[in-house]
Amino acid sequence: MKKRLVPVGSNEKVVMKNIERLLHQAAFLQSAQTLAQCPADEGGEVAFAGRSNAGKSSAINRLTGQKTLARTSKTPGRTQLINLFQLDEQRRLVDLPGYGYAKVDKEKRNQWQRDLDSYLSGRKSLVGMVLLMDIRNPLKEHDVMLIEWAEKTALPLHVLLTKADKLSFGAAKQALFALQKSLNNYSLPISSQLFSSTSGLGLDAAFDLIGEWLQVEENAADTTSQPR
Ligand code: GDP
Repeated sequence: MKKRLVPVGSNEKVVMKNIERLLHQAAFLQSAQTLAQCPADEGGEVAFAGRSNAGKSSAINRLTGQKTLARTSKTPGRTQLINLFQLDEQRRLVDLPGYGYAKVDKEKRNQWQRDLDSYLSGRKSLVGMVLLMDIRNPLKEHDVMLIEWAEKTALPLHVLLTKADKLSFGAAKQALFALQKSLNNYSLPISSQLFSSTSGLGLDAAFDLIGEWLQVEENAADTTSQPR
């Protein structure tokens, strides 16, 4: 096979987007149990939610280019809290609790839902929620609960169908199509895409969406990164 030569200085080199650069700056800021404990409600915040094992930590780590960032949220004692990550002075990522554990008793679970509800409906700086669902197991009860919350507060919602590498591309596309059909039943327009933390599928689309929500401007000349 003929070898493809890439001359030094050619535009083949991957240029990072501003949003990617910003996400790579993510650093753990603090945990909060309630809305009142969250930092000042200013600037912009994007929340990540999903059932336990949906692939949320892997996605946050992949998007921020850090191997262990979201592990913070899995540290015992932190798993039921809102975990905040600073991007810059005005922007944050928020890792919402991985609800859905069978282990958690009903009372604790209800409290959890109240805390989440107050955060989702009361946080002014929250500009959007990324909801992660395992492509082989989408739209479970808790996902529906979160969609209904977003609907209630007209919060922009974007679904990442995670672990898309586990299916053939055709089957993954079909799963996405079926999901989009179900999401059309809601009054809120909900965008969705395939995603894989392992292969990087959908990474660019997720960067674009989060960048738009956080109002990160891209220099036209800098957005020529190669498709992932
Ligand atoms: P969380 O509980 O939602 O934070 O889920 P994790 O990110 O910890 O992922 C749960 C499991 O799914 C782990 O074993 C991950 O290695 C695996 N996983 C996460 N994302 C992907 C992915 O994109 N592809 C594959 N094949 N496995 C994944």
